[in-house]
Amino acid sequence: MGRTTNPKLTLFVTSMNSARRNYDLHTHSTCSDGLLRPAELVARAAQRRVDALALTDHDDLSGLDEARASAETVGIELICGVEISVSWHDHTLHVVGLLIDPRNPLLVEGLGSNRAGRNERAERIGHALERIGISGALAGARAYVTNPDLVSRTHFARYLVQSGRGRDMQEVFDRYLGTGRPAYVEHRWATLTRAAEWITAAGGLPVLAHPGRYKLGDVERNALLAEFKALGGVAIEVVTGSHSTGEYAFWANQARRHGLLASVGSDFHAPREGGRDLGGLPPLPAGCTPVWSRF
Ligand code: AMP
Ligand code: MN
Ligand code: MN
Ligand code: MN
Repeated sequence: MGRTTNPKLTLFVTSMNSARRNYDLHTHSTCSDGLLRPAELVARAAQRRVDALALTDHDDLSGLDEARASAETVGIELICGVEISVSWHDHTLHVVGLLIDPRNPLLVEGLGSNRAGRNERAERIGHALERIGISGALAGARAYVTNPDLVSRTHFARYLVQSGRGRDMQEVFDRYLGTGRPAYVEHRWATLTRAAEWITAAGGLPVLAHPGRYKLGDVERNALLAEFKALGGVAIEVVTGSHSTGEYAFWANQARRHGLLASVGSDFHAPREGGRDLGGLPPLPAGCTPVWSRF
């Protein structure tokens, strides 16, 4: 077996590559903390040659009807999704649900309970910022809010950047809003058990979002992945805007070891706000079984 290039093989590989469907299974709209309306998000995804897009707003399903209608118009596949905030021990985790039924009462009610605390939490974040000499941040953040039920730290971050408290989102999270920083406030979200239950009840697939973002040691990471799998977890994000390219192989290996499939998502929020654009991620590493094998 020589290493000479076989033109037929090259052609085959090239056509395989161009046939690769571009999946982006984690994105946000103005129905949570994104800056594009659902229809604008879908149109941008189509322009950027995404074949299958999941809209996964934080704790909210209200963008899915508009996204689906727009996807039909522009001819891409829309996967109904959600990203649920979870408290697990002293960590906040995000669990994406893919292919959920947005009318499922258990899911709808559960997400309502997760959203309910957000306004009161925002007041506490506002007070914490006042205590360190930044006044008016709650009103400032609210000016960015596009879903009154869904005020998030992202809205505070946009206000803080706009008012000159940092150069970009990353900097104001590092300075003020991130875990352990002066304007970080504790909050109890849904349990991992409930989040998995709601997604499964709605016919969806639970996917652990951006696992590399959580500060977990080996023991805790193994415990989380085993517990997630036992609760019906199906996949983890391996290729995400939150992982460096050097981390993909590690998480691909973790998925395999725990019997979990692999997902891909940009976690896109807005053009030019840092992170990856829609559909702008590389393919899954070889040897991963993609979550879409279950679609
Ligand atoms: P919340 O659900 O209100 O706690 O807000 C979490 C959101 O803040 C995430 O979904 C991200 O959009 C954003 N976020 C968290 N950490 C960072 C960071 N370091 N840089 C930019 N955005 C961040
Ligand atoms: Mn977000
Ligand atoms: Mn997230
Ligand atoms: Mn997200």
